[in-house]
Amino acid sequence: MKSFAHCNAASVDNAIAIAGGSADPTCWMAGGTDLLGVLKDQLLPDYPATVINLKTIPGLDRVEEDAGGVRLGALARLSTLARHPELLQRFPALAAAAESVATPEIRNMATLGGNLCQDNRCWYYRYAHHMGGRMLCKRKGSGPCHAVRGDNRYHVVIGGKGCFAPCPSDIAVALSALDASLEIAGPGGGRTLPIHEFYTPLGHVLGPGEVLTGVRVPAPAVGSRQAFRKFTVRKPVDFAVVSVAAVVSVEGGLCRGARIVLGGVAPAPWRAEAAERAVVGQPLAADSVGQGADRVLEQARPLSMNAYKVDIARSLVREVLGSLT
Ligand SMILES: Cc1cc2nc3c(=O)[nH]c(=O)nc-3n(C[C@H](O)[C@H](O)[C@H](O)COP(=O)(O)OP(=O)(O)OC[C@H]3O[C@@H](n4cnc5c(N)ncnc54)[C@H](O)[C@@H]3O)c2cc1C
Repeated sequence: MKSFAHCNAASVDNAIAIAGGSADPTCWMAGGTDLLGVLKDQLLPDYPATVINLKTIPGLDRVEEDAGGVRLGALARLSTLARHPELLQRFPALAAAAESVATPEIRNMATLGGNLCQDNRCWYYRYAHHMGGRMLCKRKGSGPCHAVRGDNRYHVVIGGKGCFAPCPSDIAVALSALDASLEIAGPGGGRTLPIHEFYTPLGHVLGPGEVLTGVRVPAPAVGSRQAFRKFTVRKPVDFAVVSVAAVVSVEGGLCRGARIVLGGVAPAPWRAEAAERAVVGQPLAADSVGQGADRVLEQARPLSMNAYKVDIARSLVREVLGSLT
């Protein structure tokens, strides 16, 4: 691995100041479970001269009640999210998504912020520099998306533009169904962003020196039920081929609201709005669930090897909604 300077941040402001004061590229590190592999394989367009360790910032790992909902610090570990009693009780889709990630060892190191900001897993992008040269593509500054004409079985079926790698974060899928917002701090001050505005086909929208500090999840609606499921090739440890998080509210026997979000199919968590429309206003029962599932990814444009993802998405939505009836 090439060398870099390592700097412990004492606070969010201190982290931003260190990044702002460096003439050379810097990057954040939390658990390091993704970043260190990325650095070792020299994937980034600019190798950082300094890695700024965020884990030394006190208090950024808290999970606390927030106006009826919950605020999650960016340094909260995935093992905490998977086991936290309040999350298990009130936000089971989030806890299940966290539990589905990787192995217990990785979940003990990996953080919420790192999971949301992790790099993509496209096997062309991840092709290690030392294995025979760089595979350039748009994410690395310039070049074609090799998946378009190559082996694209795990790539996106909708929403790709320039890059066809899916967003790898399971947590982002659950947080999108829960309508969460992200708290961001940066050299220009703080801002809050709905999670559906965070991802682009080429990554995420954090600007230079910006750091994710927390996530706010609003209180679930009255009568709300939620679930998360994930289809993988290797069990029990793998990234999602397709995942689904659904939050529905049922009152007076009718489904009053639904947020159904897919992972593994698009560069960002993908709202299955046609499926939501099929179930809202109906009793949540076999008929409406079947109609909702049939309408999932109607607009998909699969690549040469991944049309199977549409079938999996429909089955998974049927399974998830069925579990909420
Ligand atoms: C074997 C294996 C299996 C995996 N399986 C899954 C899976 O099934 N599902 C899944 O979702 N993930 C999976 N992952 C990915 C894993 O979840 C991530 O590696 C982890 O969540 C990253 O968190 P971290 O704290 O270690 O981040 P780091 O590795 O420290 O950082 C990752 C990236 O996020 C940036 N970053 C970190 N914190 C912040 C912040 N607060 N603000 C801004 N940027 C930040 C870093 O600069 C870096 O670019 C797997 C990883 C491995 C190695």
